[in-house]
Amino acid sequence: MRIADVLRTKGSAVATIAPDASVSELLRALAEHNVGAIVVVGAGGVAGIVSERDVVRRLHEAGADLLSSPVSSIMTADVFTCSPSDTVDSLTVVMTERRFRHVPVLSDGQLVGIVSIGDVVKSRIGQLEQSADQLQAYIAQG
Ligand code: AMP
Repeated sequence: MRIADVLRTKGSAVATIAPDASVSELLRALAEHNVGAIVVVGAGGVAGIVSERDVVRRLHEAGADLLSSPVSSIMTADVFTCSPSDTVDSLTVVMTERRFRHVPVLSDGQLVGIVSIGDVVKSRIGQLEQSADQLQAYIAQG
């Protein structure tokens, strides 16, 4: 199974925010889109990614002043991205080893989707169920 197959099911919508938006605006966007991470897009394209974890950690250090700070001050600028042709299995390994739950998908430099750990788990469960059904049918045939 490839990332393109996952995007075919879930669609290509990606919640984005500008680097100079405030953390307060970020919180509103996270709640409105009901997501755990937002891709930061500037004039030159993807500039970073910011997740609810970044807010929680920085809030602990900086206190309420953080809310008026720019998103760029808390985002991760070194974003790991994947392409639609990557396999779900390879992404599972990266997400587990590097401990992040969101990966933006780029095609020819354009943002074409985002895959979360939930999407990956759902896809793997679907694959396992399909294999189990095939095995059961094979056994039932005698
Ligand atoms: P998450 O598990 O997605 O909530 O993110 C945990 C941490 O990893 C946060 O500091 C994020 O900014 C960072 N992060 C999330 N996704 C990525 C990614 N694709 N590439 C690099 N860092 C990421």
